[in-house]
Amino acid sequence: MDDALLSSDHLEWRRVVRDFAAKEIPREYVRTCDGAREYPYEAYEKVVQAGWLGMLVPESFGGADFDLIAYLLMLWELGRFSVDFGTVFAIPAFCVMNIVRHGTADQQEQYLQAFLEGRVRFSISITEPEAGSDVAAVSTQAVLDGDEYVINGNKMYASAAHTKNNVICMLVRTGPAGERHRGLSLILVPNDAPGLTMDRLPTVARRATGTNQIYLQDVRVPARNVIGAAGDGWRLIMEHLELERISVATLYAANAQQAVDDAVAFAKERVQFGKPIGSFQVIKHTLAQMQTDVDAATALVQRAAIRLAAGLPAAKEVSMAKLCASETLYKVAGEGMQILGGAAQLPDMDMERYWREGKQSMVGAGSSQIHRSIIAKEMGL
Ligand SMILES: Cc1cc2nc3c(=O)[nH]c(=O)nc-3n(C[C@H](O)[C@H](O)[C@H](O)COP(=O)(O)OP(=O)(O)OC[C@H]3O[C@@H](n4cnc5c(N)ncnc54)[C@H](O)[C@@H]3O)c2cc1C
Repeated sequence: MDDALLSSDHLEWRRVVRDFAAKEIPREYVRTCDGAREYPYEAYEKVVQAGWLGMLVPESFGGADFDLIAYLLMLWELGRFSVDFGTVFAIPAFCVMNIVRHGTADQQEQYLQAFLEGRVRFSISITEPEAGSDVAAVSTQAVLDGDEYVINGNKMYASAAHTKNNVICMLVRTGPAGERHRGLSLILVPNDAPGLTMDRLPTVARRATGTNQIYLQDVRVPARNVIGAAGDGWRLIMEHLELERISVATLYAANAQQAVDDAVAFAKERVQFGKPIGSFQVIKHTLAQMQTDVDAATALVQRAAIRLAAGLPAAKEVSMAKLCASETLYKVAGEGMQILGGAAQLPDMDMERYWREGKQSMVGAGSSQIHRSIIAKEMGL
């Protein structure tokens, strides 16, 4: 994010996280987790120990109570080498806010301290095989039976849901089928609940965090696991998505900046025809355009973040930030692939990971088309 728009406290905080990440989470480690499709439990634990997972959790619950900008700066530094790696921290950090904002006193007592100590992780499961962009088509049914809900259905692309001690914030239908936006509820489902099984999906990106298809057959959870009131799911999930989208947009911009930095470093070093390739005008102009695109995306992310932090309406600005940052990541990583030539094909250079993750970014957390539709709606169209 632009230094000129950050306070001295934010600048100092960014330096602290950057130093931490360089020491504790080096890029080689990020690369290894992607290659092996391994969830980085050690890195997660280090961030828990630093007390940073509860960045947005109020002090009264034992959290760090930092502001939104500080939280996003943390994601930027932890996710600069990989969007996927950044989501390891972002997903639980934004999911826990559903409990902070809307949980009952019992849920807050049961989950918040455990989360801050790393004993519980959270994930989000909205998508289904037949309900992707059309969230209101969710059909996984939760039927009240005494003081329990009995859940049946099928969920798709639930990132991190397979990880140890994961509690899934799941969007289910508690009202009659076909009610669309009404009759949805957000409910906490432990990933080891009897009747719940999962298949890890062999996706192009999101390899360290991992993403899953979930099958629910007569899964029983206490009725008190509903977050907020039954039937309030649509409102809660829209609020959730705003924080999710600004979080991932920050990761896309951070990763896009790293793609440019890597391409510049390569262009300065790689010599062909007796000169560094960065001295050829066509390469210089490509890099200049890449940096301009990243700065534009970053400015949109920062604007949306400032509006959200100030409590201003920001649906249009968040969608613009998410749309632009994801497409910029894919674009600059694609240019980076060309600048690196054959070397880009190798995972050691990281560029192919940025590119894969750029493609995924244009679909996850709302596709580019859906964000264009949100922006158009906000424009009165
Ligand atoms: C790696 C990965 C991780 C994910 N993690 C999670 C997660 O943790 N939790 C979760 O709940 N979900 C997750 N998702 C799901 C993600 O949110 C959905 O993939 C996304 O919302 C799109 O849904 P879909 O894939 O079913 O595509 P569809 O909705 O079927 O869309 C297919 C195409 O049609 C376009 N389209 C659809 N409707 C319209 C329209 N009205 N106008 C114009 N174009 C349209 C889309 O833009 C897209 O190009 C993840 C996805 C991926 C790829």
